[in-house]
Amino acid sequence: AKEDGKNGYRFFSKEVKTQSIERLSLESALRRALERNQFSLNYQPKVDMETSQITGVEALLRWNHPDLGSVSPAQFIPLAEETGLIVPIGRWVLKEACVQAMAWQRRGLLPLSMAVNLSPRQFADEHLLQDVDEALAASGMSPVLLQLEVTESMMMRNVGRALKVLDAIQSRGIRLAIDDFGTGYSSMSLMKHFPIDTIKIDRSFVRDLPQDSEDQAIAQAIISMGKALGMTVVAEGVENAEQEAFLRTHGCDEMQGYLISKPLPARQMAELLRPMVLP
Ligand code: C2E
Ligand code: CA
Ligand code: CA
Ligand code: CA
Repeated sequence: AKEDGKNGYRFFSKEVKTQSIERLSLESALRRALERNQFSLNYQPKVDMETSQITGVEALLRWNHPDLGSVSPAQFIPLAEETGLIVPIGRWVLKEACVQAMAWQRRGLLPLSMAVNLSPRQFADEHLLQDVDEALAASGMSPVLLQLEVTESMMMRNVGRALKVLDAIQSRGIRLAIDDFGTGYSSMSLMKHFPIDTIKIDRSFVRDLPQDSEDQAIAQAIISMGKALGMTVVAEGVENAEQEAFLRTHGCDEMQGYLISKPLPARQMAELLRPMVLP
C-alpha cells in the first residue's frame, strides 16, 4: 500500500505507529515481569536412543502475562535481547533451573543434567561467569550436571573471547552444547578447538526425515562429525517414530521432541523422572 499516494502513506505510518506502541507496552510489561514473578520454566526431557532413559532436561522459559496469557519465548526473547533485559532474565533462569534440579535430587530422583539456553547478549556479558557461579552456589548443584547451550554465531562473533569464556566454563566441569547446529556459520577447525561436549541437530533438519534426501545427508554428516570429535549428538524436534528410526539407525545418541514429551511444568516433569535406586 506504500505507493498508493497520500492515503497509502498515512496507512503505512499508522501501522508503524501501532507497532511501536505495541512494542513499547510489551517492553514495559517485560521490564516488570521479573519483579512480578511472571516467569516460569518448563522442562523438556532428552532421552538416550538405546536405553530410552531420560538423561537430562532442557529448561525453557515461559512468560505468564496476566492479560496476554502465556507469551512464547519466540515473541519476547528477541525484545529481551535487544533491550538487554535478557541479562537479568537469563540470570533468573540459571538460578531457577539449578534450584529445581537440586530440589528433584533432594526428593530422591535420579540426578540429571540440566540444560540452560544462553542468549548472545548474555554470552557477551562480562558477568556471565559470576552469574553461573552464583547459580551453582545458591543451589548447591554440581557443575557437571549443568549444561549451557550456545549457538554457532555466539562463538563466531569474537572467536578469541568465546574460546576464553568457553574454556572457563569447561574448567568448572560445566558441559557445553551447540544448539540449532547447522543453521549458523561455524568452521570445522574451530569446532576442534572449542570445548564442546554435545551438538544438537536443528529441528529443521529433522522435520522431513526420513523422506528428504538432503536432510538425510545433513543429519548423517552432523552425526558422523560429532562422533568423530567425541561429542554426544542430540536430535531436536523428534515428533514421530520414522524420524526416530532413521536417527537411531544412523547412530544419533539422544533425542528430544514431542514424541517423548512436550516441555512440562516442573511438577509434571517430576512424574517422568526415575527414583534413585538405593544401594
Ligand atoms: P530452542 O532452544 O531450540 O528450544 C527448542 C524449542 O523447540 C522449544 O520452543 C520447544 O518447545 C520446541 N520443541 C521441542 N520439541 C519439539 C517438537 O517435537 N516439535 C516442535 N515443533 N517443537 C518442539 P520454545 O520453548 O517455544 O522456545 C523457543 C526458543 O526460545 C528456544 O529454542 C530458545 O532459543 C529460546 N529460549 C527458550 N527459553 C530460553 C531461555 O531461558 N533463555 C534464552 N536465552 N532463550 C530461551
Ligand atoms: Ca536449546
Ligand atoms: Ca535448539
Ligand atoms: Ca533455537
